[in-house]
Amino acid sequence: MEPIQLGNGDAEFIRKVEVESRQDMKKCYQCGNCAAGCPMSFTYDYTASQLIRLIQLGQRQRVLSSRAVWMCATCETCSTRCPNEIDVARVLDVCRHMARREGYAGERNVRLFADAFLQSVRMNGRAHELGLMAVFKLRTLKFFADLSLAPAMLLKGKLPFLPHRIKARNEVADIFRRFKEGRAEDAAGGKP
Ligand code: SF4
Ligand code: SF4
Repeated sequence: MEPIQLGNGDAEFIRKVEVESRQDMKKCYQCGNCAAGCPMSFTYDYTASQLIRLIQLGQRQRVLSSRAVWMCATCETCSTRCPNEIDVARVLDVCRHMARREGYAGERNVRLFADAFLQSVRMNGRAHELGLMAVFKLRTLKFFADLSLAPAMLLKGKLPFLPHRIKARNEVADIFRRFKEGRAEDAAGGKP
């Protein structure tokens, strides 16, 4: 990691992460428990505890352009392991949305995958992996990428042909609707 100039942190970034995640970053004492249990750490540029430290230091650019916020599987292991009850998974989720909003998710495929995933959840109440893959491949024209993984996943029943729609999918769709309305209000200056 590049050295960080202490005192040059972005206080507004820290405040926004704390408000949106409803977590107190000051409670983290860097024990490393969250990172130790993270199954996705091997793909990260910064571990979960390093990301929390970077947020404490107001390092907006480093956090929002990190690979880790996109590789997090939201399994919540980190949140359950934190002795200070910091919901680390929620913090990373907030950072992911912020990165998207503020233009840090520059890679087109990342944006396309995030959109396809959210569309699948909005329609079915949960992700339908095969439908998600089909939409992503159509939008990226990467028809043959990772195709070798499909037979094993099909055999293990990990890629059902039809979506398993949850009973409360209308409620899930309503969350998307209210989020969209909230964003429109924010853009119109209706909320602080
Ligand atoms: S929620 Fe993300 S950061 Fe936390 S343990 Fe799971 S994969 Fe790792
Ligand atoms: S487990 Fe909690 S206190 Fe420990 S480093 Fe992670 S966020 Fe900080």
